[in-house]
Amino acid sequence: MQLYSTNNPALRVGLKEAIFKGLPDDNGLFMPESIPVLPTEFIQSLPELSFQEISNTVASTLVGDSIPAQDLQLIVSKAINFPAPVVPIDAHTGTLELFHGPSLAFKDFGGRFMAETMSYLNRGEDKELTILVATSGDTGGAVAAGFYKTPGIRVIILYPSGKVSPLQEKQLTTLGENITAIEVDGTFDDCQALVKKAFLDNTVSTRHRLSSANSINIARLIPQSFYYFEAYKQVVKQHDKIVFAVPSGNFGNLTAGLLAKKMGLPIHHYIAATNANDVVPAYLNSGEYQSRPSVRTLSNAMDVGNPSNFTRMLDLYSSTWNMMKSDITGYAFDDQSTENAVREVFKTDGYLLDPHGAVGYLAWKKYHTTHPDTYGIVLETAHPAKFLEDMERVLGHEIDVPERLAALASKTKVSIKMGKEYEEFQKWLMELG
Ligand SMILES: *Cc1c(COP(=O)(O)O)cnc(C)c1O
Repeated sequence: MQLYSTNNPALRVGLKEAIFKGLPDDNGLFMPESIPVLPTEFIQSLPELSFQEISNTVASTLVGDSIPAQDLQLIVSKAINFPAPVVPIDAHTGTLELFHGPSLAFKDFGGRFMAETMSYLNRGEDKELTILVATSGDTGGAVAAGFYKTPGIRVIILYPSGKVSPLQEKQLTTLGENITAIEVDGTFDDCQALVKKAFLDNTVSTRHRLSSANSINIARLIPQSFYYFEAYKQVVKQHDKIVFAVPSGNFGNLTAGLLAKKMGLPIHHYIAATNANDVVPAYLNSGEYQSRPSVRTLSNAMDVGNPSNFTRMLDLYSSTWNMMKSDITGYAFDDQSTENAVREVFKTDGYLLDPHGAVGYLAWKKYHTTHPDTYGIVLETAHPAKFLEDMERVLGHEIDVPERLAALASKTKVSIKMGKEYEEFQKWLMELG
């Protein structure tokens, strides 16, 4: 597998370099040089295949000879070891539940696959790899769980103090071992700035082998394409014209869906669903792209004002608005509509949507009114109990918390408190063994 930069199509790097660097030097994003189309027989046989078998084929088709097939299978079997069921909510709607992994969010797919792949590609290196990651919530939990106890790799997570939910904070701060949580007195942007400065700082990068784990890493995108095939297989015998509604922030999840389509999965249409941070729906409507500072919403994992994967979406459509628009429709919804949807769906269908999934649901329902012959699969990107306080306020009653989330409440938080000035972080990194 060779990759190029969206800023320089002539550049070529191998998979290992793309994964360990995360970003090309020219600040573009890595894209696969070729996206092979899977044979029709494979698509037709999907309903007979297990999730792991599907993932193996999709992975090896994309990764090619960068990782020997047998080793790749082992990576897939360790990373993709929990289900992605489509649960029907009404006659023309199902939700694809992507929250059955360790951190209860879809980011577990990317986090686990990246951890296994990095660990594999890191074999034979004698110096420990140090991964720096800034998080506003779900990314940190998935990365921490993915890399937990991975030999030869340690993870340093920076998060904004008081600005992640109590359960999310516990996911970052209670693992210990090779996972260290730094609680920054500042915002998510401050955390990200500290990580960026450390990467550019020669004294730090001479002392440590550094890598990042943020959402633009190609190792996170690849496994997110697997579950589109897995979802399709579960409904294709009963429904045609299958539409995916994707609640989006940085648009990695939707981009992975577009990859699946390029590989031959017969997806009828995609819906880009956002909260008030609507720069992509606005682009799809007008042809003008205008990034904006993000605003805070109920579905806060999607509070992104300048989505990083939009560059990849443009690249897939050769920057042609008409082409992108014929595959993707965008809709945005405010918090009031989101809260109403959570209550309505629970009352009418007995299904509990989280605030992110609810945005996807609203977008699907809007699309469906003008496309009544389609079947919608709404990506349910996190378990509702991750947003316990908001869910209980919206519903007006308590909700069930899964055992592995409830168990966190009694664990002790361990974090290193730090200011947002770089000098303090640098000193700490330089003293780190
Ligand atoms: C990260 C996240 C999203 C947004 O996904 P993108 O790939 O960034 O578009 C949506 N929902 C939840 C729960 C998330 O954690």
